Amino acid sequence: MAGMASREIQTPADRPPRGEGSGHVPLRSCVGCRRKRPKQELIRLAVDPLGTVILDAPARAPGRGAYLCRDNGVECLKAARRRRSLSRSLRVGENVIDPEVLSDQLAGLVKEEPSSPPP
Ligand SMILES: [Zn+2]
Repeated sequence: MAGMASREIQTPADRPPRGEGSGHVPLRSCVGCRRKRPKQELIRLAVDPLGTVILDAPARAPGRGAYLCRDNGVECLKAARRRRSLSRSLRVGENVIDPEVLSDQLAGLVKEEPSSPPP
């Protein structure tokens, strides 16, 4: 007797999003290990008005930016320097990148992380 046809409702939601900025977590790739990660797991590097590459922790500096893994920044910085991908994505010369200053700051960021305190 029941004459109700059950229809399947189709949602257009299972289509994979194209590109970025569609309400999802924005992914950026690390210039060192090339891994794609959510922005908050990366640290931004930018070029300051003097042309020096700086760590842009608040990610507020205007202009071009490059990203390195926050938890592995020192290693990723090394990898980025080896393949010159940092200077390439920031459009600067290798000579304005001071690896010692940057890895020092990157190491400081990792220390600040209270995720696993030593006993
Ligand atoms: Zn990385």
